Amino acid sequence: MTAQIIDGKAFAAEVREKVAGHVSRLKQEHGITPGLAVVLVGEDPASQVYVRNKGKQTIEVGMSSFEHKLPAETSQEELLELLDRLNADPEIHGILVQLPLPSHVDEELVINRIDPDKDVDGFHISNVGRLATGQKSMVPCTPLGCLMMLRDQRGSLSGLDAVVIGRSNIVGKPMAQLLLGDSCTVTIAHSRTRDLPEVVRRADVVVAAVGRPGFVRGEWIKPGATVIDVGINRIEAPEKGTNEDGSVKTRLVGDVDFDGAVQIAGAITPVPGGVGPMTIACLLANTVTACCRANGLNEPEGLTA
Ligand code: NAP
Repeated sequence: MTAQIIDGKAFAAEVREKVAGHVSRLKQEHGITPGLAVVLVGEDPASQVYVRNKGKQTIEVGMSSFEHKLPAETSQEELLELLDRLNADPEIHGILVQLPLPSHVDEELVINRIDPDKDVDGFHISNVGRLATGQKSMVPCTPLGCLMMLRDQRGSLSGLDAVVIGRSNIVGKPMAQLLLGDSCTVTIAHSRTRDLPEVVRRADVVVAAVGRPGFVRGEWIKPGATVIDVGINRIEAPEKGTNEDGSVKTRLVGDVDFDGAVQIAGAITPVPGGVGPMTIACLLANTVTACCRANGLNEPEGLTA
């Protein structure tokens, strides 16, 4: 059997289309334009690319995009003051602080200064607590994207055995909470887990968020399982030749041995083109959700947990 390949790029385009539809309705029926503010401190090249893409996609779905690019030496106090202004601004419904922050800034303090109702990354301690207690929350974008793809692929997740490999605050833990919320029997595996292959072999749903190329072997997978590969790892690809400076070209791979797993799984996300594109789409979805909640309107169906 060869697994169905879950097309994250197409799925993300559908999510963005739904978001654009809701944005248009909010404008026409209520005169409200959802607004997303993204704050970038410093000149990290990867972060600059992410912020540019976020801004571009925000505008494409019809929302207002507010970019705040601050120099690396911005003080913590200045950053907190900016967040206070954004929290108080009624035109802004979502606030995202691009991580990582420079080392002189306390990341936790900054994240927890964002109004939890505008915290579209879902990292504020109140949102973490709300998610854990089953209350309405802002849900971290990457796990939300994984959940949407799983629901689409499997229908009901109730009663399924799910294994999440990785226990980070941004992916593993919220992913496990979301799966529990959908009534999966959830195991969270990590670097101290004993006999990981055996743990994975029981799972109907495997979410890999480890950060190690090809770590999850095909033979660990239960036949027919759905495999969601969150990993983004850059490895050397000598088959692609060399760059102008003589260095070997690279390519992106996931945490799952795709060629092995695709023979056994029922469905699998590729890397690239799987979970990756869903993350920004879910950021836009969260901003529309936050906007509807802020205005006491029904929130869009299918765009949150
Ligand atoms: P992280 O904070 O480094 O966490 C990695 C987790 O993997 C840890 O919980 C660690 O366990 C576990 N782990 C490491 N080695 C292991 C092993 N040998 N066996 C079992 N578990 C092991 O990483 P992250 O931020 O969650 O990200 C994970 C991956 O997802 C990365 O490749 C990242 O680039 C990618 N990512 C992608 C997106 C996206 O948009 N698609 C978004 C975020 C992250 P311990 O806790 O025991 O150390």
